[in-house]
This record gives sequence, structure tokens and C-alpha cells, in this order.
Amino acid sequence: DPTGEPEGPLHRASERYAPGAAGTARINATLLSLVRNEELDGMLQAMRDLERTWNHKFNYPWTFFNDVPFTEEFKKATRAATKADVHYELIPTEHWDMPAWIDKNLYKESVQLLLDNKIQYADKLSYHQMCRWNSGLFYKHPALANTQYYWRVEPKVHFFCDVDYDVFRFMQENNKTYGFTINLYDAPASIPTLWPETVKFMADHPEYIHENNAIGWLTDSLRRPEHTREANGYSTCHFWSNFEIADMSFWRSQAYEDYFNHLDRAGGFFYERWGDAPVHSIALGLFEDKHRIHWFRDIGYQHIPFFNCPNSPKCKGCVTGRFAEGESWLNREDCRPNWFKYVGMN
Ligand code: GDP
Ligand code: MN
Repeated sequence: DPTGEPEGPLHRASERYAPGAAGTARINATLLSLVRNEELDGMLQAMRDLERTWNHKFNYPWTFFNDVPFTEEFKKATRAATKADVHYELIPTEHWDMPAWIDKNLYKESVQLLLDNKIQYADKLSYHQMCRWNSGLFYKHPALANTQYYWRVEPKVHFFCDVDYDVFRFMQENNKTYGFTINLYDAPASIPTLWPETVKFMADHPEYIHENNAIGWLTDSLRRPEHTREANGYSTCHFWSNFEIADMSFWRSQAYEDYFNHLDRAGGFFYERWGDAPVHSIALGLFEDKHRIHWFRDIGYQHIPFFNCPNSPKCKGCVTGRFAEGESWLNREDCRPNWFKYVGMN
């Protein structure tokens, strides 16, 4: 079963959502990439993989976002890489610029501390901006106002497996909010106050906590590889968000809007280096029914240095078997077992 669910309504998804099957008009979704003009080659490579393994069968549109205008070269080359519609969107400055309430001197001092703690990209302002945009702003872009689902694609990622069903239709018909491939621990020094701020938010808004939440997963300490991975109460286990297939209705909910605004005001996107991955993951783990989160075990995927490699003849070129077999330091970063423990999968 390509969906990884042994039985029940998800069974035989590849037949039920195959192209051309009855009632399979495209649903309201886009492939979505934030990307720089300089990353054209990597973007084309990722597009080629996704078009070959999946999108040529469904022709979902691509929507590219950038904080500066796309070059003609970028547009021409990406347009040529797909039969589907392609859109090029500029991010409004009010979605990208450092907010006025961030103290520039405190930001500079904080960056130094992050660098001392070996936090990658800490001194790159655009990286902080990118994480903030991916956390709480991308789905507010006017170009997405009438779009419900997206599949996030980064330059240079790889897709290895033929996927024969419409994953967006799968999400919709099975009432899924969020799909992931890889679950990892994070660098605690990038998010020291993220969980403490979240605890404050939960105290103010107990009504947002879903009765079927995954808070046990967020706070699990049993399976973490080293005690140092824990960040003031948060296990740091997160869905690796360079891959996401998700329903933007969740990000557009009042619960998430209030949560993002709380975090944004707290300043940790700049004074620390909060990533969109832990922010999305914590929100999903608290405010969503954990059974609406789906592991796409059948989508072979790589973003350096991690893989999701299904053991299937549909996959070509993926490191076979386990999560990057033979590279134990990579396996140590994998926290999928924690997730499965809390959603009842083995
Ligand atoms: P990493 O995966 O954490 O190493 O970060 P990346 O460099 O891959 O950045 C994540 C995503 O955001 C990628 O799709 C990048 O192309 C994109 N990105 C990062 N910074 C910028 C930026 O300043 N401008 C634009 N347009 N895209 C960016
Ligand atoms: Mn990346």
C-alpha cells in the first residue's frame, strides 16, 4: 500500500486517486517554491524530479515566490520545465522586512551569541526573514488567496519514486491537514525560548489545544538521542518543512494566527533563529488532531543530507532500506520513532 496505512479508508490509494479515474479533476492546490534567481539550476533539477515522478500526470501549477523580481532567464527556464501553468510572485516588503518592533542592537548582540553556539546562518538576516515568512506569512500572499493546498518544493531536492495518485486529492478525501516525509531533532540553541513562549501562549489560550493533540510527542524525552537535544521542555522533534504537503486552512485558522502573532512579537525569529519547521510542528502538535497528520512514506525524498527512502520497485536512485543506512550520525537525528509512538504506528 503506497500510503503506508495497512488497512481502512486509505487502502489502495494508488488506484482510487489514479489519473483519469472517475471524478479526478484537479483540486485547489499548487506546487510552491520560495527561491532565489541564483538557484535556478537547483530549482530546475528539483522540478525535473517532481515532474517526472508525479506532476506530469496531474499538471498542478507551480507558484514561485521571491523577495526580488524573478529574472527573465529564471522564468523562461522554469516555464520550459513543465506543461503546467507557472506563476511568479513578488513578496510584499511588509511580509519580508524585519518588523519595526525588533531592536536592531539586540538583534546584533543575539547573532553573536548564536554564532558562538555554532548556529548555521545566524548572521544571515535573509535566513531569519525566510524562516519568519515560511512560518506565518506565505499563505497570506494575495496570489494564494483562493488556493487551499500546497506542496512545498526547494531547489536541489530529489524525488525518487513514481507516485501514481493525486496526493492533494488524497489529502482532501482523507481529511488530512499536513503531510511530511522526514522528522528530525533540531539544534536547541536555535530555539531556547520557543517552548517557554509556547507555554505562555497555551496558558492564555487553553481553548486552542486539540483534544487529540500530540503534546506527548512534542515533550517526549525518552527517545531523544542526547539529553542536550531538548530545548527547555521541547523535544525539538519536528517535521522537516522543506517538504510539506498541507492544507493552508490550518495556517489561516484563528488559533495559528494568534500563535504566530504571539511568537512574532516575542522576537525569536530574529533574537534566536526559530525555524518554520519547529514552529509549524509545535502548532500542529498542539492545535490539530494528530490523526490528520500523514507520513508520506511512499514519496522518496532527499534534501541534503537526509532521505526518506521507501523500499519499493517504484523508486530509483534512493538510498535503499533505512534512513540513510550506514550513516549512524544521520540515523541519530531521525525522530520518526517518537512520532509513530504517539500516533500509534510501529
Ligand atoms: P536550508 O534548507 O535551511 O539550508 O535553507 P535554504 O537556503 O535551502 O533556504 C530555504 C528555502 O528558502 C529555499 O527554497 C531557498 O531557495 C529559499 N530562500 C532562502 N533565503 C532566501 C532569500 O533570501 N530569498 C529568496 N527568494 N529565497 C530564499
Ligand atoms: Mn534547503
